[in-house]
Amino acid sequence: MAKRPLLLITGGSRGIGAAVARMAAARGYDVAINYAGNKAAAEATAEACRAAGAKAEIFQGDMALDADISRVFAEVDARMGRIDGLVNNAGVTGKASRLDEADPAEIRRVIDINVTGAILVAQEGVRRLSQRHGGAGGSIVNLSSAAVWIGSPDNFVWYAASKAAIDSFTLGLAREVGKEGVRVNAVAPGLIETEIHESSGLGGRLEKLGPSVPIGRAGTADEVAAIILFLLSAEASYVTGAVYNVTGGR
Ligand code: NAP
Repeated sequence: MAKRPLLLITGGSRGIGAAVARMAAARGYDVAINYAGNKAAAEATAEACRAAGAKAEIFQGDMALDADISRVFAEVDARMGRIDGLVNNAGVTGKASRLDEADPAEIRRVIDINVTGAILVAQEGVRRLSQRHGGAGGSIVNLSSAAVWIGSPDNFVWYAASKAAIDSFTLGLAREVGKEGVRVNAVAPGLIETEIHESSGLGGRLEKLGPSVPIGRAGTADEVAAIILFLLSAEASYVTGAVYNVTGGR
C-alpha cells in the first residue's frame, strides 16, 4: 500500500484547523495536529482522525514562539516523519475594540501569532518540503481572511492588517520556491462558524451578520476545509501564489 501523505496543521484542535484534520484523514492523509492550550479538543480531533483510518498525533506548541515552532517541527519529524503538506492555520483576532481602546500587548500578540509565527512556521515547512533541502516537494496553505478588504473597523483593524501581510507573504514565498516543488497558496474565509467570534468577545456575530452575506448565511468550517484540501491536492498542481476567497460572496 502507498504511504499516506503527512499533513501538519497548526491550530488543528478546533474550528477550521480541526475540520481540515478530519477531512484530510478521511481522504487518506496522516495528520499532525498542533494546538496551543486545549489538549482535550486536540485529542478529540485526533481520535476522530484515527477513527477515519489515519495515523494522528497531537503536538502542543505556541506558534508565536520561535522555540516552540522549531520544537514542534522536530517532534513531528521524529514521531511521524517528513511532512508532505502544511496548513498554516493558527490565528487569533485579539479582543474586539476600536484601535484607540485596544491593549498594545494584545495587538503585539496577534501580530506575533498571525504574522511572525506564520512566517516562521512556513520557513520550517519549506526546509522540509523544498527539493533544495532534499524534500519531495509539497504544498503550503496559509490562512488569510476577508478582513483584508473589509478592514474590520471597530473590531480589530490590527487583525485585518495581519492577514494582509499573509497575502503578500503567500505571493512572495510562492514565487521564491515555485521551482523547488513547493506550491504556496492562501484561503481567505469570510464569516465562518467557529469559536473565534466568542473568543473575540463578539458572541452573536454569526447570527447578526449571517443574513447580510450575499449567500445569506455564515459558512461552515467544512466549507473552508474543502477548499484547503483542494489546494493541497494534485488537482491544484498549477495553482500557486493564489488567495482563494471562501466568503459566500462577502
Ligand atoms: P478558532 O476556532 O478560534 O480555533 C483556533 C485554533 O488555533 C485552535 O486550534 C487554537 O488552539 C489554535 N491556536 C490559537 N492560538 C495559537 C497559538 N498561539 N499557537 C498554536 N495554536 C493556536 O479559530 P478558526 O476560526 O478556526 O480560525 C482558524 C484560522 O482561520 C485563523 O487563522 C483565523 O484568523 C482564520 N479565519 C477565520 C475566520 C472565521 O470566521 N472563523 C475567518 C477568516 C479567517 P487551542 O484549541 O489549543 O486554543
